[in-house]
Amino acid sequence: MIFCRLTLFVVCLYFVCSRLRDKITELLYNFKDRFALSYGLKLYNHGGVMKNTAAKGTQDILPEISSAWEHIEDKFREICQLYGYEEIRTPTFEHTEVFARGVGETSDVVQKEMYTFEDKGNRSITLRPEGTAGIVRSFIENGMNSLAFPVKLFYEITAFRYENVQKGRYREFHQLGVEAFGAEGPFIDAEMLAMLQHFFKALGLKQINLEINSLGTLESRAVYRETLLGYLRPHKNELCEDCQARMEENPLRVLDCKNDHCHEITKSAPLILDYLDEESEAHFNKLQELLDNLGVEYKVNPKIVRGLDYYSKTVFEFISENVGTQGTICGGGRYDGLIKLMGGQDTPGIGFALGEERLLLELEAQGVLRNDRPVADVFIASLDDEALEAAQKLSQELRYLGIRAQYELTGRSLKAQMKYAGKQGAKNLIVLGGDELSEGKAAVRSLVEKDKAEHEFDLDHVEVLADYLKN
Ligand code: ATP
Ligand code: MG
Repeated sequence: MIFCRLTLFVVCLYFVCSRLRDKITELLYNFKDRFALSYGLKLYNHGGVMKNTAAKGTQDILPEISSAWEHIEDKFREICQLYGYEEIRTPTFEHTEVFARGVGETSDVVQKEMYTFEDKGNRSITLRPEGTAGIVRSFIENGMNSLAFPVKLFYEITAFRYENVQKGRYREFHQLGVEAFGAEGPFIDAEMLAMLQHFFKALGLKQINLEINSLGTLESRAVYRETLLGYLRPHKNELCEDCQARMEENPLRVLDCKNDHCHEITKSAPLILDYLDEESEAHFNKLQELLDNLGVEYKVNPKIVRGLDYYSKTVFEFISENVGTQGTICGGGRYDGLIKLMGGQDTPGIGFALGEERLLLELEAQGVLRNDRPVADVFIASLDDEALEAAQKLSQELRYLGIRAQYELTGRSLKAQMKYAGKQGAKNLIVLGGDELSEGKAAVRSLVEKDKAEHEFDLDHVEVLADYLKN
């Protein structure tokens, strides 16, 4: 009896204490939140330890590598414009509904990976996990349907997914992509793949593996869906939990599953290419003919499904072993049903998205990563304060003439300034000061060609100096 009472007492005490502890902790956190918010402080976390490291799955792109990013983005923009694409910038976050519908309720992205939160107005908001859904929302909202078709749009964005972080897989990452609306035939599909190949070649990639497939029309896919279900049902218990849960709703997702066991089971599954209707088959055959004609190398892989309900006909992936376990650098396809699904007029569409981090890994692996950091055309050292003022003015004038000019900003000695200029890789050096400056003159010495003779210039004719520095 005493033992029972004692046990009851201990349980009750434990319960009360833990409630009390939770309450106190909550109060403390609320206080910390308020305090931190009202003072704009971010340097704290709930464990009470300062957390001033980047959040998991995010990374800083530092100046030492940012030129490589810039180069990729500039090239992408240039190639997109060659093919008639114009840039679109949509918001970083949207109503959750946009992605739930636009990416597909049964996709991994929507089921597991979205950064969703309630804002202060009790709206459910999601950080974009990809570009297409927001662009389709914008296409409909802005009445782009009334524009002359095709509407060709490109984007360069950051995207957010709550993922298991590993090589080539981050929580904040960068995508380059395009969407083309209003063109139905296979010509635009072929053009898009040729454009991607053009882009990869322009970056210097030698080996690019393009794999293509056709998912048919919604009608032909319905027949395949039933056949696939018939194949999968007897194996249901052997599939992973996710596949078991969404198999009936979207069996194609099983083909896309990364789980090794599911992969093994789907090896002998019926192939979608055997179920194409006439229209899809003709589209797919013509696409291959056009790709051959354009000299685009590809392989037909009937296992690529890209899982989402609205994909139709052409789907494709660029694959490589160098970019992490899953190996897809770029994925895309035709989504003729999506605009209607999202409330717009029935309009065909096709697009792709390319992971910039994975592209960088690929460029590095193939030894063609270009990272040309901008260096100063000239460093203007100064002998004293008067010369420093002249150096600042001269730099400013030269910059207006397109010259990358730098001068001393931290009070180094002349010797240290010269050392600094060399370390920064400046191409030329001017030392301002003394009699030379009083006479309005400055001499340029090349830091690249050591034997090149010094050249003296008149500071009243900065354009002559600029011309010399340009060459
Ligand atoms: P994966 O199969 O690797 O998960 P995915 O099918 O989810 O890719 P998409 O939604 O098609 O990827 O996105 C297009 C491209 O964006 C991918 O091919 C990849 O290069 C890149 N990407 C997708 N998720 C990430 C991520 N978490 N980190 C870095 N890049 C990513
Ligand atoms: Mg993914």
